[in-house]
Amino acid sequence: MTDCLFCRIVNKEIQAKIVYEDDYVVAFDDINPQAPVHVLVVPKKHISTVMNIDDYEVVVNAFKAIKKVAEIKNISNDGFRVVVNHLGRGGQSVFHLHFHVLGGRQMLWPPG
Ligand code: AMP
Ligand code: ZN
Repeated sequence: MTDCLFCRIVNKEIQAKIVYEDDYVVAFDDINPQAPVHVLVVPKKHISTVMNIDDYEVVVNAFKAIKKVAEIKNISNDGFRVVVNHLGRGGQSVFHLHFHVLGGRQMLWPPG
């Protein structure tokens, strides 16, 4: 989708600090990090929200990439958090499915 920010990052029309990429995802540093490590794992296929997933291979490939990102960022032993925000109350602001990978500090519960 040409008017989708994350499609434009996937297509390299907009620059991002890419951490990891394969055939299925691009993972890049969040522009407004909420933790010392804050990476967005973005499926290359445009899916607007978590409720619009129909092909669950997307999820499998995203979690394989999350594992790679955790290794690259050296947070797999300390612990980290994976977050998907959905619509208004979930705090979603970009309507292209993405997985936040947050680490490098103690995560709090309940979340804000
Ligand atoms: P969400 O609010 O869950 O939809 O998450 C969207 C995330 O995208 C936010 O954490 C933003 O900081 C991040 N973001 C927005 N624009 C960019 C960009 N150009 N490059 C990297 N991250 C971005
Ligand atoms: Zn998109």
